[in-house]
Amino acid sequence: MTQILHENLIPDPFTEQVTVRNYFDGEWHEPSNGQYLDNYNPSTGKVYSKIPDSSAEDVSRAVAAAKKAFPVWSTTDKETRAKLVHKLADLLEENLEAFAQYETMDQGKTLTMSRNVDIARAVYNFRYFANLLTGQTTEHVGETKYMKMVTDSAGAPIKANALSYTNRTPVGVAGLISPWNLPLYLLTWKIAPCIVAGNTCVCKPSEFTSVTAMMLTRLVKAAGIPDGVINMVFGLGASVGNSIVTHPDVPLISFTGGTVTGKHIARTAAPLFKHISLELGGKNPALVFADSNYDETLTSLVKASFLNQGEICLCPSRIYVEKSIYERFVTDFRQLARKLIRVGNPTEKTSYYGPLVSQIHYDKVQSYVKYALEQGYDVDFCVDRELRPEVSSISETGALTISGCEGGYFMAPTVITGCSQKSRLVQEEIFGPVVVILPFDDEAQAIEYANDTSYGLSATVWSQEQTKLRRVAGQIVAGTVWCNCFLVRNLDMPFGGFKSSGVGTEGGVHSIEFFTKVQTICLG
Ligand code: NAD
Repeated sequence: MTQILHENLIPDPFTEQVTVRNYFDGEWHEPSNGQYLDNYNPSTGKVYSKIPDSSAEDVSRAVAAAKKAFPVWSTTDKETRAKLVHKLADLLEENLEAFAQYETMDQGKTLTMSRNVDIARAVYNFRYFANLLTGQTTEHVGETKYMKMVTDSAGAPIKANALSYTNRTPVGVAGLISPWNLPLYLLTWKIAPCIVAGNTCVCKPSEFTSVTAMMLTRLVKAAGIPDGVINMVFGLGASVGNSIVTHPDVPLISFTGGTVTGKHIARTAAPLFKHISLELGGKNPALVFADSNYDETLTSLVKASFLNQGEICLCPSRIYVEKSIYERFVTDFRQLARKLIRVGNPTEKTSYYGPLVSQIHYDKVQSYVKYALEQGYDVDFCVDRELRPEVSSISETGALTISGCEGGYFMAPTVITGCSQKSRLVQEEIFGPVVVILPFDDEAQAIEYANDTSYGLSATVWSQEQTKLRRVAGQIVAGTVWCNCFLVRNLDMPFGGFKSSGVGTEGGVHSIEFFTKVQTICLG
């Protein structure tokens, strides 16, 4: 076990306050304005760390460091780059437990999720892209092709035997901006392909979940990744994020976050002709046909709807059920949610999910529940107090008080029925432990409903008829459609959203394509 994290920079978890610092040019820095933001533990609602409230000046310094490092890093041979990235993965794996503890403290997700999903998959992101790069041969280093002979207007050959090939090169300094729901996982999903492809970067993690990103900088240094290749500036989106997006020396932006922010970034970056990828919000339909495997579908959807407090952009949040089984499904769904979904202290093994990430997000999710109650919809908070002694109170909007975690942002698994397809609850992303269930008449209506929102991120389809699965999946306007499964992620596969869920595709070679520019060279 490499003991890096607890030397100086990261104090003892749970006892001392963590102060996050910016990292650029291989050093840790105070924000130039000396200002810090409070960072809250969502399980208690108490401040447990300080985050730099950085400014444009900090961003400029970090970009200058990344720009300085680019010429050497981009021409370092790919085996060396991959070896350093593998070293970073090894260090992260050795320190997985500390990272998982902090991810849970910062985000509110269960320790089980942090260990088995977030940090484990952050390790895998580095390994996967390091391997992908070293495995690449001609396609990205200059494939040669004989050009077809062309003629001038008189029919005489212009040039015979010309040779054309493509040359893929890194783009330069990348701005990598990430959200709070899968903090280290989504940040490393960007850093890994970015740097293995030879770019340098300035990262801006979410202000709600910055701690594990700063911990990563310790490992970056220890792995021997050259100074200036990975830089981090912490703070607010409107200041740090916006300064990265508008900086003239940052030609590429990879952003994951909300659709409203994505629109703003698209508007800002378009006239600057930046290379952008936007992974945005979703309102993911699940289509349950009467011929599905009933028990498996029910269990999968109960677990999927409330995974990570419903704070995964891919979670199903509107479930459409074929009319013939609708009533039974709703009853069983609520009952199973009471049985399976335990809300509690995220460090406890028995908890299925923990608190929502922040007061502001909690207020937003609660406002949707209030709206549903005002509209007279059927709102069921799936908590059985007999089975859940740790729930010391439940409010009329489903807010929970958990013994030992008083002050935390906990909410009941919430199931809403009785609303129409056009309701805000069906159309807007809530991003919490709240699902709506609606009936459909037939396949055509199921597809129509699935496609009737502005989003197009993911969907699930549940049926035992293979031809129906393929037929329906192909008609759903969403970047990923899972049939009889959920969240199976193969990193070789393209990932991206349609409509208001995003622009661009990442994953596998698509990420490498995004993080490089391609040039055609013709030798006459
Ligand atoms: P957000 O848009 O509020 O913030 C995301 C990041 O952008 C943060 O780091 C934030 O500080 C920064 N930011 C905010 N304003 C900015 C600006 N003007 N310029 C530049 N950067 C700015 O999103 P969030 O609340 O952190 O995350 C939740 C959202 O992310 C949900 O909508 C969810 O669906 C989405 N999400 C999408 C995916 C995906 O792969 N499609 C994955 C995870 C989360």
